[in-house]
Amino acid sequence: MFIVLLGAPGSGKGTVGKIIAEDLKLAHISTGDLFRENLKNETELGKEAKQYMDKGELVPDEVTIKMLKERLNKADVENGAVLDGFPRTKNQAISLDNMLNQTKAKVDMALNIEVPFDEIVERIANRRSCRGCTEIYNVVFNPPKTEGICDKCGGELYQREDQKPEVVKNRLKVYSESAEELINYYENAKILYSAKAGDKVGKTSYDVAKDVEEYIKNK
Ligand code: ADP
Ligand code: ZN
Repeated sequence: MFIVLLGAPGSGKGTVGKIIAEDLKLAHISTGDLFRENLKNETELGKEAKQYMDKGELVPDEVTIKMLKERLNKADVENGAVLDGFPRTKNQAISLDNMLNQTKAKVDMALNIEVPFDEIVERIANRRSCRGCTEIYNVVFNPPKTEGICDKCGGELYQREDQKPEVVKNRLKVYSESAEELINYYENAKILYSAKAGDKVGKTSYDVAKDVEEYIKNK
């Protein structure tokens, strides 16, 4: 089974994706994490991606699609995957369909997580990431036991360049520009599942993940 996650940066995509992937025994693939791994290892791909990421812009499709294709060929994707952060453009969505089609697989569900933008801006401003592993904290809602230190690996917590307010605003703008065509694309394919989340509707990422699992079970 393949599930793609739509939803703005800060919508809780990553958290929802990790829960679903673990429960349904699917690989969890985040293109943002893959890019950051390349950045850390200073690969050619990382160097190329960095200039776009630091500004909150999309890395060109050609580079992104090639990277995802390689990842999909790994053994742990046998049962399928939750794709977090891919596709981000209609062109990427079409490429994904073609890639999966080669192994007679398909996208089974596109999960759109809707959170009001004002809630998102606040959430991202409160985010801290670990330099050691990919763990993310929220200094208000999900703080580490010791300030500035990762509970999991003891690594240093920092605010990513792209979590700074100006860049966040640009990421949301970039997201809005591409979201509509992706939502339409999956709506036409009749596999769109929309979930409202956030404080106003009283739904956490955990709630959303469980709703989705329930829906899949009863399908
Ligand atoms: P977000 O919080 O925006 O979901 P991610 O961690 O998913 O952030 O991605 C970080 C950055 O990596 C993006 O701002 C973008 O520059 C790049 N990126 C991730 N996925 C894609 C993609 N599918 N296409 C193009 N660029 C991507
Ligand atoms: Zn850590």
